[in-house]
Amino acid sequence: MAQEDLFKKLVAHCKEYGYVFPSSEIYDGLGAVYDYGQYGVELKNNIKKYWWDSMVLLHENIVGLDSAIFMHPTIWKASGHVDAFNDPLIDNRDSKKRYRADVLIEELLEKLDEKIAKEVEKARSRFGEKFDEPLYRTTNPRVVEIREKYDQLHKRFVDAMSGPDLAELRQIIVDNEIVCPVSGTKNWTDVRQFNLMFATEIGSTSDSAMKIYLRPETAQGIFVNFLNVQKSGRMKIPFGIAQTGKAFRNEIVARQFIFRMREFEQMEMQFFVRPGTELEWFSKWKEARMKWHRALGFGDENYRFHDHDKLAHYANAAADIEYKFPFGFKEVEGIHSRTDFDLRQHQEYSGKKMQYFDPEMNESYIPYVIETSIGVDRMFLQVMAASYYEEDLSKEGVADSRVVLRLPSVLAPVKLAVLPLVRKDGLPDISRKIIDGLKFSFNCQYDEKDSIGKRYRRQDAIGTPYCITIDYQTAEDETVTIRYRDSMLQERVPIAQLRSIIADKVSMQEQLKKL
Ligand code: ATP
Repeated sequence: MAQEDLFKKLVAHCKEYGYVFPSSEIYDGLGAVYDYGQYGVELKNNIKKYWWDSMVLLHENIVGLDSAIFMHPTIWKASGHVDAFNDPLIDNRDSKKRYRADVLIEELLEKLDEKIAKEVEKARSRFGEKFDEPLYRTTNPRVVEIREKYDQLHKRFVDAMSGPDLAELRQIIVDNEIVCPVSGTKNWTDVRQFNLMFATEIGSTSDSAMKIYLRPETAQGIFVNFLNVQKSGRMKIPFGIAQTGKAFRNEIVARQFIFRMREFEQMEMQFFVRPGTELEWFSKWKEARMKWHRALGFGDENYRFHDHDKLAHYANAAADIEYKFPFGFKEVEGIHSRTDFDLRQHQEYSGKKMQYFDPEMNESYIPYVIETSIGVDRMFLQVMAASYYEEDLSKEGVADSRVVLRLPSVLAPVKLAVLPLVRKDGLPDISRKIIDGLKFSFNCQYDEKDSIGKRYRRQDAIGTPYCITIDYQTAEDETVTIRYRDSMLQERVPIAQLRSIIADKVSMQEQLKKL
């Protein structure tokens, strides 16, 4: 199936099975805003717990924080968001559609990259075993030509963005004959800057009201509390502060479902270190974060680092962890070496010292910061995309298929479904008793409606790793059938063993031990 179709099906599945709904749907929705349904909220909470525990529980020197969404407006002046948190926008006059100029150019770069990959693959199947890929890439005239075009365009793009030089961005679009995907024309406006922050007012009367912003990242709440936490927690450098919470960005190109939203949730950790040690910590955190992702078991080959050539104004190194979504490798998490930029700016704008006295060095300094920043929603989409399978189960000419969410058991919203074979003869009562015994440990679900086969399929679609069926034999010998979601194998086990069979496989503790 084409990857695009697969993605559409995944979006439909999320709605049909209570994972994600469009916001305000009965009023025709609100662009790039989504609500999480009964299973979505559980999966989201499990993702957040995996992250939080991996930071706060496993590290003595990382503590949590929950700072407010509203903050003093000067914070956003100091952080650079008022002046520099902009996207370069361009409109097509024919379709009246608005685009991010940088995204249009990045898409062209991706296309060139794909062209090279295609040439290489063609050659690989032509030459077979003898194929020397590095040699081919450096000598094949067509590949060399595309590569040169890519490098030139890339350099021009990076230079234009570093200004940013808006006229040059437009010129790149014109020179490369980029057309509007909707109208197919090159009738472009000028490029303009657009600030992504949402503004509102705090205070009751118009004279006393103050313009404030909904935070576009959670990180600044950590920076402005750096000394509160350090002093009250007697933290010694190196140490980290972790926070999860909502962030808001007025994204223009809001596409790809929950990949890019206007209201979303972040999980950020700022790690404060001695100046001069930041690059060492940067590479440690890069590795640690990659390990966290890979420990979910979706296949190491589906992740890669993307090191930034164009650094944000505050960074001296930055890398993304990218996952292979159905629409290509895309960022899930950013790891940034933010230098002392933020604390220094807050020191300047607030007039309060943001320094740490290092007893070992007998010296005060503004710490340097490594940040790890991941979107809960984007991680949610990554997990869903990696777990969604359509399987053909046809046998001996009888057509059959199923949709299964192969969610890691530790993240699955429902761990165990308890299914009485029939709705009578005491089987529902036995089922309820089993749930009563297990519900303190696992999220259990009771289902008695429809045939057993249909109920299995419903649980497969939700991603429940274990189903147990209560039948007449259960009443006699206290055994049940356990069915495993991924293999669909079934076996007979005593009720007394259920907890131990399931516990390890769904346990957060076992997952955290992999890190
Ligand atoms: P992008 O380049 O995709 O716009 P970014 O580089 O601006 O992302 P950061 O500011 O580094 O992103 O934010 C850190 C993380 O927050 C991202 O890796 C992503 O997981 C998440 N994130 C950022 N913007 C959004 C959004 N609009 N919707 C959902 N998640 C987001």
